[in-house]
Amino acid sequence: MTSRRGSYFIKTWGCQMNVQDEQKMASLLEEEGYIPATSAGQADVILLNTCSVREKSEEKLFDFLGRLKHLKTTSPRTIIGVTGCVAQQEGEAVIRRASHVDLVMGPRRIGRLPDLLTQARARSATSRPGAVDTDLNDLSAIFWDGGRGVRSGAMAYLTIMEGCNMGCTFCIVPRTRGREVHRPMAKIVEEARRRVNQGILELELLGQTVNAYRDGRKAFHHLLEAVATIPGLKRLRFTSSHPAFFTANTASVMAAHETICPHLHLPVQSGSNAVLKAMRRGHHIVDYFRRIDDLRRRIPGVAISTDIIVGFPGETEQDFQATLDLLEQARFSQIYAFKYSPRPGTTAATTFADDVPDSQKKRRLARIFALQEEISLEENQQLVGRSLPVLLAGSSRKDASVASGRTPCNRVVNVHGARLEEDMGRIIMTRITAAHRHSLSAEPAV
Ligand code: SF4
Repeated sequence: MTSRRGSYFIKTWGCQMNVQDEQKMASLLEEEGYIPATSAGQADVILLNTCSVREKSEEKLFDFLGRLKHLKTTSPRTIIGVTGCVAQQEGEAVIRRASHVDLVMGPRRIGRLPDLLTQARARSATSRPGAVDTDLNDLSAIFWDGGRGVRSGAMAYLTIMEGCNMGCTFCIVPRTRGREVHRPMAKIVEEARRRVNQGILELELLGQTVNAYRDGRKAFHHLLEAVATIPGLKRLRFTSSHPAFFTANTASVMAAHETICPHLHLPVQSGSNAVLKAMRRGHHIVDYFRRIDDLRRRIPGVAISTDIIVGFPGETEQDFQATLDLLEQARFSQIYAFKYSPRPGTTAATTFADDVPDSQKKRRLARIFALQEEISLEENQQLVGRSLPVLLAGSSRKDASVASGRTPCNRVVNVHGARLEEDMGRIIMTRITAAHRHSLSAEPAV
């Protein structure tokens, strides 16, 4: 198939917000007549949608750009753009380091992508250098809600806020995404209704600190309840929550509506109050436990997942032990753990020495993973023999012939014997047959 406009390829790194941005960009381009290409080498427009939270993702960007240099030489009409958080943070520096880049665009400029590409083509045709557009004050299109917005099959993301007003010392997000902007509640509910009418079964509300959401006198739990009661919606999730904003009202709404999945992702980052203070997280361990204990009282069996950083500046063996103790006590269903790496432009990078040796960070990370794997396995074993509904969304990573999906508590289930095509995008009842460290096995329940 050919198109008047040409074809596009988007490579995305990072969080759900970036995945959602990719979908917005794809929808905008398709509305303009572009068609998707199967690889970068086949595309007329290549967009690298970046993440700057970890050093590795930035390295991956420049590796990828290095590989595209030859392509730009042999096919100079190909437009190469860098979008997302690295684009916002580095701006001109991306073009200085990779002069074959035609466009550097910040996340808040997504609505202008088609125009910016037209300008990039004109520059490229006359061999002019690439341009940068990273205006953080442009709020016109950040909540653009057209297009597909579909994550996969019957699941969709819905952005309710952008940016972050917190000042965690390790985090670059407030600089790359700007201060919080909250979308009007009526617009969110309207879009949610439209997605459900289009056949979406599961919606996930997105925001950097999603539960800090406000619209006038309405708080996050009001929005949650309004979306949860939309007829036809089967599952509602939200991410990422901040412990400081997780209220009893939100816990109460979660407990009251079956549509809201019994899963909470609540990043804690460390088990040590001293480290949390240096991170300026705005919460203590005792508050964290008060909140998750309350939620567990209200929703027995609720799954709680978290984020952990090891090797933050000044983290002692005692601090690290406090994180291991936290894991033992909290019994998370899943964790996302990382070694600290100083990100340029963050308070931690400019204020603290990165004084935990890399070998120590690696050792701590390995201990964290080993402990969590034991816990996850024990928690998963308790589900063997249970009947659980699974929304099928793809195939198993290890065996493409086996359908895979998630339970309401967000556990990955590989369903042996499910019909790959007919059952895809549907919620089917399964019987859990085996537990593993990162997933469950099941068969369709009869
Ligand atoms: S709450 Fe902290 S870690 Fe999360 S996005 Fe904001 S600054 Fe970053």
